Amino acid sequence: TEELIRKSEKLSVLGELAAGVAHEIRNPLTSLIGFAQLLKETDEEMKTKYVTIMLTELKRINDIVGELMLVAKPQAVHFEYSSLEDMLQSVIRLLDTQAIIKNIQIQLKVDKEIPSIYCVENQLKQLFINLLKNSIEAMDQGGIITLAVIMKKGSVVIKIEDQGSGIPKNRLGKLGEPFYTTKEKGTGLGLMVCYKIVKEHYGNISFESEENKGTTVQVKLPIYPFSVV
Ligand code: ADP
Ligand code: MG
Repeated sequence: TEELIRKSEKLSVLGELAAGVAHEIRNPLTSLIGFAQLLKETDEEMKTKYVTIMLTELKRINDIVGELMLVAKPQAVHFEYSSLEDMLQSVIRLLDTQAIIKNIQIQLKVDKEIPSIYCVENQLKQLFINLLKNSIEAMDQGGIITLAVIMKKGSVVIKIEDQGSGIPKNRLGKLGEPFYTTKEKGTGLGLMVCYKIVKEHYGNISFESEENKGTTVQVKLPIYPFSVV
């Protein structure tokens, strides 16, 4: 019965997710159909404008589908020991241009030597990319994002601290809920993916935030195989 309950829980979550996806994708699709219709009967000058809107909507659908595939598709999960420091460095390199454009500096603060940890490297990179992107997107006045790595016994804590808009207290519980977004171009799927990845690594993730001050995300991960933190 426990198995059955678990399965039906999974199915209802899946059903909710599917309903959400259908809804989220229908909005841009409806708008795309509308603009394609207009395009058919329109003069050259307006065409560029309509096509621009269509491309924005197509990109949105593409983002949603892309992020869903990360959760839905059973990817080749290969656990191995990988250098956490290398992962963080490469993620910072990846996002640095985006940060610099917004006058944001990403600083890596390391406790002592960071160990290799037992993980699926691509998933952890994805996790840190999603978190750092949220920090960058929350910081419109520029500033500093600090990535601190703190060693614990058998585990490691990665702290991402930004100086962004912050999250209202009554919204903290919504983080990780599919399609919860406050951004015009957001998918609301980034944190759902983060929660899933952290769970699959037997770790935990928590958020602290103060409005107009910033947000701190803490990810705790075990160093060794299948030890829960
Ligand atoms: P998206 O980034 O597409 O909106 P996410 O799941 O990544 O979706 O994030 C959901 C919401 O959580 C964001 O829209 C934002 O309101 C809030 N959020 C997440 N991280 C931060 C952060 N570092 N600072 C402020 N708000 C955040
Ligand atoms: Mg995001």
